Amino acid sequence: MKHDAYDVVVIGGGHAGCEAAHVAHRLGCRVALVTMRETDLGTMSCNPAIGGLGKGHLVREIDAFDGIMGRLADQAGIQFRLLNRRKGPAVQGPRAQIDRNRYRAAMSGEIAAAENIDLILGEVADLVGADAGVAEGVQLADGRTVRGTTVILTTGTFLGGVIHIGRAQQPGGRMGADGANALGARLRDLGLRIGRLKTGTPPRLRASTINWDGLEEQPGDTDPTMFSFLSEAPIARQIACAITHTNELTHNIIRDRLDESAMYGGTIDGVGPRYCPSIEDKIVRFADKASHQIFLEPETAEGDVIYPNGISTSLPVDAQEAYVRTIKGLEAAEIAQPGYAIEYDYVDPRELRPTLELDRLSGLYLAGQINGTTGYEEAAAQGLVAGLNAGLAATGRAPYVFRRDQSYIGVMVDDLVSRGVTEPYRMFTSRAEHRLHLRADNADQRLTADGISLVVVGPRRAASCSAKMTVLAATREVLRARNVSDDVLADCNATVGSRQRTRSVFDGLAMPGIDAEKLIDCVFQAGDDREAMRQVAREAIYANYLSRMDGDIRAVESGRSQIIPGDIDWRDVSGLTTELREKLNRIRPVDIASAERLEGMTPAAIVLILSTVRRHMRAA
Ligand code: FAD
Repeated sequence: MKHDAYDVVVIGGGHAGCEAAHVAHRLGCRVALVTMRETDLGTMSCNPAIGGLGKGHLVREIDAFDGIMGRLADQAGIQFRLLNRRKGPAVQGPRAQIDRNRYRAAMSGEIAAAENIDLILGEVADLVGADAGVAEGVQLADGRTVRGTTVILTTGTFLGGVIHIGRAQQPGGRMGADGANALGARLRDLGLRIGRLKTGTPPRLRASTINWDGLEEQPGDTDPTMFSFLSEAPIARQIACAITHTNELTHNIIRDRLDESAMYGGTIDGVGPRYCPSIEDKIVRFADKASHQIFLEPETAEGDVIYPNGISTSLPVDAQEAYVRTIKGLEAAEIAQPGYAIEYDYVDPRELRPTLELDRLSGLYLAGQINGTTGYEEAAAQGLVAGLNAGLAATGRAPYVFRRDQSYIGVMVDDLVSRGVTEPYRMFTSRAEHRLHLRADNADQRLTADGISLVVVGPRRAASCSAKMTVLAATREVLRARNVSDDVLADCNATVGSRQRTRSVFDGLAMPGIDAEKLIDCVFQAGDDREAMRQVAREAIYANYLSRMDGDIRAVESGRSQIIPGDIDWRDVSGLTTELREKLNRIRPVDIASAERLEGMTPAAIVLILSTVRRHMRAA
């Protein structure tokens, strides 16, 4: 231990813990990162991938604050794909297949290179100062004490963790790692509201036992989209994934043995992630589907072990072997590690402030899966929030709260602390009412200036961001001043009427049907910055919609106390999901504020509910 007392003590070296420690280090704090094993840093417990819809936005936002997840994912990425490429930029999500060994090595290197971070190996068993209501450090199981002005708890699935494979159960934080029960018991003693959640993972397969011939290949993008605003191109060798499918035989085996599944045999009480169902769940919930898609994703560039994405399970090992071998290409597949489910404690996030500090224990911050979320990106983003605020508090500075209209991080934290969770929370673009503005492509424009003022952004990023902002401002002016004829716009696929006008290029870029790349080619002049023009084109697409979106948001804000009449039959309202219609009819929320709190409610749905209520009242 380098210091008698640290500014920030972080418990847990997973995705939340590393990001928390690193941002506190960037603030200039002395940080102790206490974790059980050296190999914890950057370990991916489940799928070897980072990003995706909503999740990719979070990674970009972490990066905009000079966080580490995006840069390291770029270093370890072995296949990059921009999801929803054909849809609008607001819902496009960068995703990468990650070489899990490279990612872990990159994270260890990053933490070792951070001179203010002291890595301490050991199990935290108690919180110093908890009885007096002020966190002052941690007590390790081996008797050592690490003192700190603030403490951040990021213990993932390790508190009260129980691993299930079929009917067999064993305590553990994840496969091959012990849980942390002393600390779990301590949190219960504090009187915090604690619940149980569950999640699962598929069996890992030996690549050499898979017959790849005849399987559909899924290559990465030819023009990879990086996570970090500072990265230019992938470093690791790029690989392809393959796609296969379950079939009736697979489903029959699973159906026949459902009562042996931990999820279905009644041995697990915790609630699982609805959006990441096990194969048992899929077969029960979508009984009419004859087949489910499976992505065969290499866990490293060398590709010795394959992650079959789509068949997470808690069936006994022999049932896993039997159903896996019914699948095309997997007829002789060997299991390197069985699939399993894990049940664990989480703390009701309504116990937290928007800084992620516990309300009832000053100086203790919670981040990651312990707060009821699922996913590396959600964990890392909370790590950023907790680490930043713990560091600010430890150095006597004012807290920083991420706002909903500014970031997905703000949406997630606000959802957690104000609504709580009833199932593992994962990020979706539909959760953000300001999603047209909160795009992955403009995360730096939304956040980096704040990061610079807080002094958590290094000089390289600060210089590159301010240069980019200058070029963007100039490009916006140019594209608003430079004109283009309707004939040219029609040539670029825009839907134009009379073809007698000229318009600004900016307005042209906002027209329906426009091929923005072609229009940029047509108007490009020496000295223009093509990438900046593409960025302004993304802004132009939404320029016309943003004021409508702001109007919707204002309407909901002023309509929260609106009573919802009990006689509306929500089954007749189109535009809502079947799930929401059923919930509205069954639960009958009394007002818009209560409807907003329903699980699965989205900002777009609440706008529709409010307008339906108003129409219904006018007609009454
Ligand atoms: P972790 O990454 O788990 O890190 C916690 C760290 O805390 C560990 O390093 C541990 O050693 C350390 N620690 C714990 N207790 C102590 C203590 N007392 N003292 C010192 N150190 C301690 N996410 C998805 O998005 N999709 C999925 O399908 C999915 N499936 C999953 C399946 C399984 C079986 C598991 C285990 C996780 C799954 N996840 C999934 C979740 C994903 O792994 C987590 O959301 C993410 O890793 C959480 O990050 P974290 O930092 O909160 O915790």
